[in-house]
Amino acid sequence: MTIYEKYDLKKVINASGKMTILGVSKVSETVLNAQKIGGENFFEMSELVINTGRYIANLLGAENATIVSSASAGIAQSISALIGRGDAYHTMHPYTPKITRREIILPKGHNVNYGTSVELMVQQGGGVVVEAGYANECTAQQIAMEITEHTAALLYIKSHHTVQKSMLSIQEMVEIAQAHQLPLIVDAAAEEDLTTYYEQGVDVVIYSGAKAIEGPSSGLVVGKEPYITWIQEQSKGLGRSMKIGKENILGFVQAIEDFLVHGSESGDSMQARLSPFIADLNQMTGIEASVVQDAAGRDIYRAKVVVSGNLSAIEVIERLKQGDTAVYTREYQANNGIIEFDIRAVNADEMKTIVKKIAAILKGAN
Ligand SMILES: *Cc1c(COP(=O)(O)O)cnc(C)c1O
Repeated sequence: MTIYEKYDLKKVINASGKMTILGVSKVSETVLNAQKIGGENFFEMSELVINTGRYIANLLGAENATIVSSASAGIAQSISALIGRGDAYHTMHPYTPKITRREIILPKGHNVNYGTSVELMVQQGGGVVVEAGYANECTAQQIAMEITEHTAALLYIKSHHTVQKSMLSIQEMVEIAQAHQLPLIVDAAAEEDLTTYYEQGVDVVIYSGAKAIEGPSSGLVVGKEPYITWIQEQSKGLGRSMKIGKENILGFVQAIEDFLVHGSESGDSMQARLSPFIADLNQMTGIEASVVQDAAGRDIYRAKVVVSGNLSAIEVIERLKQGDTAVYTREYQANNGIIEFDIRAVNADEMKTIVKKIAAILKGAN
């Protein structure tokens, strides 16, 4: 009996990209092996956390790093660490009214919902969000205007979820932080470059383990001292409810090493894998398929399918999710009659399954 039968689950083909609702990524064989070693052995956990963090910091040329359970946990614990600044009383009483320096300044257009809100993670860490600028604009001056004696840190979200237009750069944010001697946190959860933000002078950089790096459920915080040590201290306080297991720590270190060697799949490789898929799709009437590059200009290529038959793109998308195998697509352009397939986590067999499923859907509609 398979897991799918045992729990009455649908099989899922993920042509939507890195989606938390589908479990984000598949992990490789080498990562699974490292997880197995983690699962089968004991370690002194504090040593495991500290030493794997140092190991990764060495790989990345950073002062220190630490593995956490998710990027969200990284945000909450970094905020708490920068408010408490290593104070043992604060670690055990993170919401104490005795500490009043709790304001975290971020551009208003960065206070987004990525599945949960940035604001809630800041609040979980005991921070008070101060939004600088406007929904569609934030300048360096607008950030600086919000700094008071209550400011604990600055926060910048590097993500396609945020407002990009009329937004100050990370470099400008670093300059303000340094001029005011405030620590700067960058949430780079889904980003692929594990060194650039740290090298630009950011104090604490946060990544999600299962997004670009394709690790197990985990997060990475890269940064300067004493901040990383303060973040590790959170395990005696609010970090306890965000604990990560030994198997995922070891699996994630392996995933980082693999990612640094191989990187992610190149755009050329995606285009090559897409070409038979596009050809198969173009055999059908009522749809027209082509290859398109990511709208934000990243080296990601997808299949763009324009639907023009009896069914709307929205209906085709819904029917793809039904049946024994649910196919999830990128739906952002469904209103314009367009379905996008992101094949980063889709293999050749799965593309054949998608083609068959679309053929059956279109046939059923005639
Ligand atoms: C995905 C994401 C997160 C959260 O990452 P998790 O590891 O799932 O907690 C945080 N911030 C941004 C911008 C994200 O895209």
